[in-house]
Amino acid sequence: MSSSDKNKNMDEIEHSIERRLNYERASVKCMRTLLEPGSIDNILPRILNIVHRVVDNSRTYIFKNELDPDLGLCMSQIYEAVSYGIEPQIDNPELQYLSYNEATPTLLTVLESRQHFAHLVEELDDPERTILSEQGILSVLIIPIYAGKDFWGFIGFDDCVKAREWDENDIDLLRMIADGIGEFISHRKAENELRESEERYRALHNATFGGILIHDKGRILDCNQGLVDMTGYSKEELLANDSFTIVTKESKHIVMEKLASRSEEPYEITGRRKDGTEYPIRVQAKNIPYKGKQVRVTELRDITEEKESEKALKESEERFKALHQGSFGGIFIHINDIIIECNQGLSEITGYSQDELIGKKGITLAAERCRDKILDVIATDYEEPFEVIGLRKDRTEYPLKVQAKTIPYKGKNVRIVEFRDITERKESEKALRDSERKFMNYLENAPYGILILDEHGNYLEVNKTACKLTGYDENELTQMNISDIIAPESLITAGQSFDELKTRGYTSTELQVTHKDGSVSWIRRDGTKLSDNRFILFSSDITEMKKAEHSLIEAKMLAEHNNRIKSEFLANMSHELRTPLTAVIGFSDILQEGVAGELTEKQLGYVDHINKSGNHLLEIINDILDLSKIEAGKMELECEDFNVSELIDETLKSMYPMSGKKNIKLYLRNNINNGNVHADKIKIRQILYNLLSNAIKFTPDNGEVFISIEKTENGIQVSVTDTGIGIPSEMQDEIFSPFTQVDASSKRRYGGTGLGLALVKQFVEMHNGKVWLESEEGKGSTFTFTIKNQKKDD
Ligand code: ADP
Repeated sequence: MSSSDKNKNMDEIEHSIERRLNYERASVKCMRTLLEPGSIDNILPRILNIVHRVVDNSRTYIFKNELDPDLGLCMSQIYEAVSYGIEPQIDNPELQYLSYNEATPTLLTVLESRQHFAHLVEELDDPERTILSEQGILSVLIIPIYAGKDFWGFIGFDDCVKAREWDENDIDLLRMIADGIGEFISHRKAENELRESEERYRALHNATFGGILIHDKGRILDCNQGLVDMTGYSKEELLANDSFTIVTKESKHIVMEKLASRSEEPYEITGRRKDGTEYPIRVQAKNIPYKGKQVRVTELRDITEEKESEKALKESEERFKALHQGSFGGIFIHINDIIIECNQGLSEITGYSQDELIGKKGITLAAERCRDKILDVIATDYEEPFEVIGLRKDRTEYPLKVQAKTIPYKGKNVRIVEFRDITERKESEKALRDSERKFMNYLENAPYGILILDEHGNYLEVNKTACKLTGYDENELTQMNISDIIAPESLITAGQSFDELKTRGYTSTELQVTHKDGSVSWIRRDGTKLSDNRFILFSSDITEMKKAEHSLIEAKMLAEHNNRIKSEFLANMSHELRTPLTAVIGFSDILQEGVAGELTEKQLGYVDHINKSGNHLLEIINDILDLSKIEAGKMELECEDFNVSELIDETLKSMYPMSGKKNIKLYLRNNINNGNVHADKIKIRQILYNLLSNAIKFTPDNGEVFISIEKTENGIQVSVTDTGIGIPSEMQDEIFSPFTQVDASSKRRYGGTGLGLALVKQFVEMHNGKVWLESEEGKGSTFTFTIKNQKKDD
């Protein structure tokens, strides 16, 4: 070996040793860099620069793999280091998302078997050869990067200056660095995953929905923000205390039991906040190992809302059940208009069976023209009742009242809808309207004027007749006051009547009103108080009635006047007649007695006639005089004490000559102990005389007439009974009127004037008594009268 060869060898050995040293230094530097904290983006470019400098090639780069669903495994260049004068490829789009299978299938096979790829480009086959030579690459070394088991990417070295042969040193160094990078990446990946999971855990831990605590036999070792929010204690306070401070005393026992049994089942207790307020909580605990110990991780959840909605749900379910079972209407629950439940009432109303209704659209139960309205109601959650037209299964329609409410039901918000068939109500409303119309029609055309007024007397409403009565039209009247149409002479009465209406609630009066044309008419007005301080008046025109009444009064007054004149005339006349008659009777008596000389038989007969006729005339005149006196109010009682039995006895005796002539048995049938009365003796005698003389007169020969006497509470009752001809029933009331006799023939047969019973009646009534008769034709009559004891002063 020549010395120059030797020198050359020495240089090469020196150079090789130096390169090796450089390579080792670089690898140490790389390893140290890889151990530094920092992100992949910060570390890997620095590694690439170290390696690039020591290898001294044209370009060094790292590609990262990505799996594309269409292209398969792809590579993208992510970092690059280039030497001066070499074109960088970092922005070359062709080196992004490049499919291994399409661009470099051989490379893929090599790298996947964890081998390196070291070639001179000209020796390569296509497509690798074309793609690399296009970038001006003469020589290439590519080493796979594995992150753990995953083929992550590769690190590559190009030489564009010379066709460089890669030696063992290059390959070993770069392999070591690629492995370092792989390990670095897989470590960072694990770290990231850990950090992410820690962040997730922390987020979970601090989530506000619940309190989480880790405790050892009740002593709190750790807790989250949720527990702080829930309990009102700070985290420091919680950690300084045991877990029993956050629950009530009663709940503490439950918690201790659960602790002792190491139960992992959820249970409910009552929590107690720092401010003393209590709230329901649900607890779930798990036993876990923590820092070498078995501890319990407990989750606490504030279930106030849950409890409240549970309670509301229960209430609403109960309400629903009550409604459901009530028979008064149709009820259903729908979600988005689909009926999910309904009662029997709904099937009765709609004609569908319950099975048919479930699943049906609620809207189809209403007539089509009403559906928009219902949809509006549903959309606005409207809860007031409204009316639509219902549609039955048989397509018939009916008026329907609907009310819907949104309620929680089995954990959801649903609409509960109540249907009510209001056909009957509608019908009765119509009937009411009809009857109101009819009634209004009646009112309007009533024969009364109907006027409604307020408490000040202003007319509010009037009917047609009221207008007719006053001459004013409706508009005019409703602008007027009650006093405006009253005639001046009735103003005081009208005022009193309106006061009475207001205070007593009703009034009834007769008034004169002035018609619009000035004429005055009489009206009768009845008023009643209505509600709201309003009054209703019924008015009717009584002008004609008033006129008739007036003429009646006038006629009566005239009649009374005439009667009085007649009575006075009669009284005077009777008096004037009696005086000459007394002379006729008196002188005929004297002639009969023969004081003025003996009379012949014939003369005596004539004088007897004169005397009898005179006496008869005197009787008649006396009766007329008495009746006239009574009618003229001039007859008065002259009372005294006397014994009625004695008076009857006396009267009977005076009648014997009369009864004897007809052989009539005349007697007093019974007597009383004390027959004393205070009365007008003369008039009682007259009564007895009139009744007895009638009885004898109308009783045939050999008959019977008797008197019965009874005491009454304050007087006496006397009956005169005969066995005579009797009185037909149709005449029995009349015979007490003056000049009444049963018939003309009787007048002839029995004589008389028809004044006797009229006088009896008047005298009895003057004694506050009564007279009546019982009689049967052909069998006889009984006349009975009562008289009352008169007051001594009279
Ligand atoms: P007078 O007897 O003068 O006709 P009265 O007033 O006493 O008038 O009687 C009226 C009429 O009543 C009599 O005319 C007679 O028709 C009838 N009357 C009265 N008393 C009796 C009687 N006891 N029985 C039958 N009829 C009688």
